[in-house]
Amino acid sequence: MSETVVIIGSGPAGWTAAIYAARASLKPLVIEGAVTEENRLKGTLPLGQLNLTTEIENFPGFPAGHLRDYLGSALAEDRRPYWILDNGPQPAHGLTGPELMELMRQQAINFGARIITDDVVSVDFSKRPFTMNTIENGAISTHAVIVATGARANWLGLPSEERFKNHGVSACAVCDGALPRFRGKPLAVVGGGDSAVEEASYLTKFASTVYLIHRRDKLRASKIMEKRALENPRIVPVWNSAVSEVLGNDTDGVTGIRLASTVGGEGKSLDIVGLFVAIGHTPNTDFLKGVLELDSKGYIVWPKAHRSDTTVEGIFAAGDVADSHYRQAVTAAGSGCMAALDAERWLAAQGVH
Ligand code: NAP
Repeated sequence: MSETVVIIGSGPAGWTAAIYAARASLKPLVIEGAVTEENRLKGTLPLGQLNLTTEIENFPGFPAGHLRDYLGSALAEDRRPYWILDNGPQPAHGLTGPELMELMRQQAINFGARIITDDVVSVDFSKRPFTMNTIENGAISTHAVIVATGARANWLGLPSEERFKNHGVSACAVCDGALPRFRGKPLAVVGGGDSAVEEASYLTKFASTVYLIHRRDKLRASKIMEKRALENPRIVPVWNSAVSEVLGNDTDGVTGIRLASTVGGEGKSLDIVGLFVAIGHTPNTDFLKGVLELDSKGYIVWPKAHRSDTTVEGIFAAGDVADSHYRQAVTAAGSGCMAALDAERWLAAQGVH
């Protein structure tokens, strides 16, 4: 028997699609991703990129404080945050990325979404019903699919970078830049594209100085963003340099970085408390190559403006997997809603639902 709609992915786009599809009585099945060491290292564990962040201050509806009773009652006991279970002091911030994702997941379950913790490794979207092959659950047949597998931040790949993730190393200035630990302190951004200059400019709101570390002596960012960044007195470019080590300790997190020259000069160290890695993202579309139209960076193409359709009828895409531009939790959630509505209407037109 075929599923009506399968949602692949478990970030804000996937869960919002699941909530809307479940409320439309489509009985969605969510394939949330497998919990494996390979996925941990790649940054593709269930619950997506938000599960790798700390506080969320910009998701509408969740201001700081007073969340204990709500989280305590909304989540199953084994999925509640540690500070509720320990009866520890309630953090002064709003909710965290992992808490937001747990709440969305629970909300989808409450409306009847079913979940399997598995990875899709290959698909056949050439005939209907569509087929998806998973590692643990074999082949799954479905009338419609919403792809919401997101994107993963590219990292430098240093062991010291891995050690200080969430302790001063981040790949998202908008997510983490306003944290108290970074206020009034020197920070560094690595990268030379629009993301790097945008992150550096954003961080000047909080930091004393933002070093912009680039491996060449020329940015690839758009001219207007480059001009704005280089005219900002708080942004100090550090050309022809690659981060060779993140320095720090368990108490303070990041305290500095060691730089190697990319043109054979002297290396040096910088005292900083935060390193923001902005060297691009990779969409999680490996299993879709040759199946859906992807752009040159591998993002799914949305061929119709303001619609979540892909180039295969009946397959819809939502969130960062098709959006290299906004990449926010709230925009991903919004496009998840659009995909569920588009899928529902398409299924109705096919006489499936
Ligand atoms: P990007 O344009 O691919 O730039 C990545 C940067 O990281 C490049 O400067 C690259 O150096 C550097 N880099 C890559 N791997 C590295 C490594 N291992 N070590 C050190 N540096 C490394 O990526 P992006 O900045 O994320 O932008 C992606 C797309 O989104 C672009 O099309 C961009 O225009 C768009 N975007 C737009 C906006 C906006 O308009 N507001 C904001 C953000 C992003 P090289 O230059 O030497 O290759």
